[in-house]
Amino acid sequence: MSLHGQYDPQNIFALILRGDAPCYKIYEDDQVLAFLDIFPQSTGHVLVIPKASRARNILEVEPTVLSAMMSAVQYLTRIIVDELQPDGVQIAQFNGAVAGQTVYHIHMHIIPRWEGLHAGEHGRGKAEAEELRALQARLVERIRKA
Ligand code: AMP
Repeated sequence: MSLHGQYDPQNIFALILRGDAPCYKIYEDDQVLAFLDIFPQSTGHVLVIPKASRARNILEVEPTVLSAMMSAVQYLTRIIVDELQPDGVQIAQFNGAVAGQTVYHIHMHIIPRWEGLHAGEHGRGKAEAEELRALQARLVERIRKA
């Protein structure tokens, strides 16, 4: 049933948007917020979420919001590729628990990939705060210079 249901305003991304939970913010504009995944599947794993929408998944999201999300995903993927020089980048989005969704506020994953390095398991293994802070600083600085 997780594919269908009510938006929970207490989900972790809603808390982050309200400033009630912290995040390693990389970028924001009037429509989206982007921050580091704290259980990253690879170095530089970034999440892009809409600010105003209460869509839980791709079925519910307003097309204009989806468009703003995808524009931000492309912009940030270019920033991440410039800064981290991965060999590839995976863009992912999950709908319903059976498909791997764990947070029910729609989001896109940007997951840089390197030759010979397997991506970590989805949503497992918390990164070190120090490592996340350093990465945040690099990506924010790269955006500032863009
Ligand atoms: P999904 O499984 O597609 O719903 O993705 C949710 C993602 O949110 C997972 O990759 C988690 O690692 C990530 N996540 C959960 N809590 C937080 C948090 N507080 N800050 C950043 N990322 C988070």
